[in-house]
Amino acid sequence: MALFPQLAQASGTRFSAGQPGASASSEGAGFGVRSTSLGKNRDTPPAKPAGAARAYRPYIRQAAAQRLVSGYWSNEGENLRGSSVAGCGRWKAHGAPAGVAQIEVDAKQARMTGHFICGCNWTCEMCARATVARNRSWLRGALFPALHEKGLSGSLVTFTLAHSYNEAWDVPVAALKKAYGLMDRRMAKVYKKAGSVGKFKAFEVTVGMNGLHPHLHVLLTHDKAADLEALEAELKGAWFKAVEEAGGRCTDRGFDFQPNRLNDYAAKMEAAHELSAQSTKLGRKKGKTLSQLLDMAAVGDLERGAEWQRAIGALGSTNRFHAGNLAKKLGIPSPSEWEDEEEQDAQAELELEEQAPPLIIEYALEDHLRATHPALGRPGLAMILRAAKRGGREKALSMVRALCDDYARKRMPHWMATAHEPWSVEPGTDIMRAAHERPLNPAEVREYLRIKETHRAGYLVAA
Ligand SMILES: [Zn+2]
Repeated sequence: MALFPQLAQASGTRFSAGQPGASASSEGAGFGVRSTSLGKNRDTPPAKPAGAARAYRPYIRQAAAQRLVSGYWSNEGENLRGSSVAGCGRWKAHGAPAGVAQIEVDAKQARMTGHFICGCNWTCEMCARATVARNRSWLRGALFPALHEKGLSGSLVTFTLAHSYNEAWDVPVAALKKAYGLMDRRMAKVYKKAGSVGKFKAFEVTVGMNGLHPHLHVLLTHDKAADLEALEAELKGAWFKAVEEAGGRCTDRGFDFQPNRLNDYAAKMEAAHELSAQSTKLGRKKGKTLSQLLDMAAVGDLERGAEWQRAIGALGSTNRFHAGNLAKKLGIPSPSEWEDEEEQDAQAELELEEQAPPLIIEYALEDHLRATHPALGRPGLAMILRAAKRGGREKALSMVRALCDDYARKRMPHWMATAHEPWSVEPGTDIMRAAHERPLNPAEVREYLRIKETHRAGYLVAA
């Protein structure tokens, strides 16, 4: 309040920043500060983002995804799986104080606190990054050392099948999964002979001239002394046979075997990267990664945006990472139990230094929902957080207000309402229905629980 008393009085708003439980302004971010100019409505990610720009790029991609899932909802009348990305960092988390948006700024970063985290690994760049980082850290910090201790190694196998642009994109996804399942079951004896304790699988897609290109990277564990030539030959034969049976097509490039990929430190780092990367340069050769499609959609490439939607639709409930029984067999924590060590170290270092308490910036949730609304076509979250990091409370609130003004000027489509984002209460109705009709498989149970959380968060906003 002390910052701009006259203006706050003059406009009669009850907005007060920085006080927990502050009452929220009811119309727009009605607080008086020097106005912020938003510039042209073009959230172009810089071609080679450096420093700060790179830090906000995931938010820009997230904003593009939010626009694409809400656009899909308005056109098709149904949700893509992973549509709750639309509320990530926007809706309030279950149990967090309602009605107030909260930013925490510390020496390192500015971020939303007490907000819904969608946890979608295909649609949400922010959540996917966290999952990818955790899995990579688990490979390096838990799995590889445990394998080494037991005298085991691993080979990297990549399974792919042929695909074309005009066929339905869920066809190659389904065929790949089915073929892998068939092959995997038949290989049980071969695995056993090689001394395998299990596999780590990573599902990946790129989009190129031939449409959706799904592939599976598998780290297959085995004895250091296993006969890898025999293993490769068995796997390869079984793979081509299984692809045919699953109704897929396969060229010679559909199978790649890299023996003993865990020999030295560099090989391990590389293997971990190959198994868990969010957006790699490799993608460019074989097509675009989902993240790259979002970059292009963000600058108005409608075709790439439609391809992203099509890819997300085709992926359905596909798991991105799967460690099977590896953790159990080796007596190590599972990837989901694993805490990122690097992050913890960095955190511990920060705590050792005398840390100033973080700056807390609060404003009305309703303003936050407007300022970050997908229909605005701006990466609002990135803009607000960057302003908060650079200019503290004043700049952040000024940015929120500028975005809210923009929102007020926009002619919003009929389906759009601030608090009632229609898609926020709908995601995954199919799985909710299925839950009443049949037992769910483990992957579905996870999704079911996640959606229930989402619903709660969505209702909190709507209430
Ligand atoms: Zn998310």
